[in-house]
Amino acid sequence: MSPTSYQLLHTAIHFPNREGEDRAVSFLCKHKAPPVSQTNANAAHRAGFVNIIGSPNVGKSTLMNQLVGERLSIINAKAQTTRHRIMGIVSGEDWQIVYSDTPGVLDPAYKLQEGMMKFVRTALRDADVLLIVTTPDEDTLAHPETLEKVQKMDIPVLLLINKVDLSDQAAVSERIAHWQDLIPRAEIHPISALHGFNLDHLLERIVSQLPESPAFFPKDEMTDKPMRFFVSEIVREKILTHCKQEVPYSSEVTVESFKEDKTKDGRPLRRIHATILVARESQKAILIGSGGQMIKRLATDSRKDLEGFLKEKVFLELRIKVDKDWRNDERKLKQYGYFDG
Ligand code: GDP
Ligand code: MG
Repeated sequence: MSPTSYQLLHTAIHFPNREGEDRAVSFLCKHKAPPVSQTNANAAHRAGFVNIIGSPNVGKSTLMNQLVGERLSIINAKAQTTRHRIMGIVSGEDWQIVYSDTPGVLDPAYKLQEGMMKFVRTALRDADVLLIVTTPDEDTLAHPETLEKVQKMDIPVLLLINKVDLSDQAAVSERIAHWQDLIPRAEIHPISALHGFNLDHLLERIVSQLPESPAFFPKDEMTDKPMRFFVSEIVREKILTHCKQEVPYSSEVTVESFKEDKTKDGRPLRRIHATILVARESQKAILIGSGGQMIKRLATDSRKDLEGFLKEKVFLELRIKVDKDWRNDERKLKQYGYFDG
C-alpha cells in the first residue's frame, strides 16, 4: 500500500468555540480511493475485528461508544478475560465490525498495568484493522515497543487524530505529516469523537478495509459481555465521578449476585449484590463517607443508571471490602479478569 494511492480531501467542520460562537474549520484528510459502497447488493459480505489502541485519555472509549452508538465502554483501564476485551458490535446489511476497546498504552509500573499491556499486545495480534487514537498534542505512542510493532504490521492501520475541535488546521496538518513519516502505511484521519466529526467517513473507511467474511455474531447483537460486566463498570464509573483519583485507581468492583425477582406488586425486579474492593482502610472510609453519605450516593446513582441500562427495576446492595494488595497479586488479578493466560 503506497502513500501515492491516497487521495486528498477537505472536510469542513463546525464547532462552537469556547465562547459559543460557531467556528468552521476545514481539516485535511487523506484517504485511499475508492470508498466501498455500503449498499451495493453485489458486494461480498465483510466482517472483522477492529481494535482500538492509544494512550490513556485520548478518547478511545468515547470513540467506540460513538461508533457503536451505546454507552458500552464506560471508563478507562478496564480489561476482561475474553480474547477480545470490551467488544462493541455494529452491523450493516453487508458488513459487521467487532470493535474492541483496550486500556491505554503505557509503561507498566505495577502488575495490574502489566496485565493491561498484555491486552494491548493481544489487540495488536488479533486485529483485522487497527485504529490508533492520538490527539494533536501527541507526537509518539507512550510505549515504544507498541510503535515498533505497529510499524512492522501488515494489517490496515488507521491513525486517528482525535480532539481536533481543540486544535486548528495548521497544527493538525503538521501532525498528519508527522504521523505519516512515523507510520507511512497508516491512513490518517482527523476526527472529533466527542462531536462526531468525520466519523461517518471513518466508518466507511473501516468497512472498506475489512476482510471478506461472514458475520461473527447475530446482526442484532451489540456486545459479547454479560450484564454483570456492565454492572461493575457502572459502579466503577460512579466511584470515578465522585471520588478523588487515588480511590478509583485502587478500586475494583465484583458482582456477587444478579438475580431475577419480583416487586411486591408483581413487577420484575433485578436484585444485585456487588462488592467494592479497595487497597486500604482509609479508602474504605472515604467510600463510606461521613454518616454513610458517599456509599449511599454511589448506590443511588448506580441504581438509576442500571435501571436505564437494564430497563427493569433494580435493587442494588453495595458492600466495601479491604483487600490490601489486589493490584499486585497475579492470582487475584486473574480472578478479576486482568490476565487472560
Ligand atoms: P480513553 O482513556 O482513551 O478511553 O479516553 P476517554 O474516551 O475516556 O476520554 C477521555 C476524555 O477526553 C473524556 O473527558 C472525553 O470526554 C474527552 N474526549 C474524547 N474525545 C474528545 C473529542 O473529540 N474532543 C474533546 N474536546 N474531548 C474529547
Ligand atoms: Mg477508555
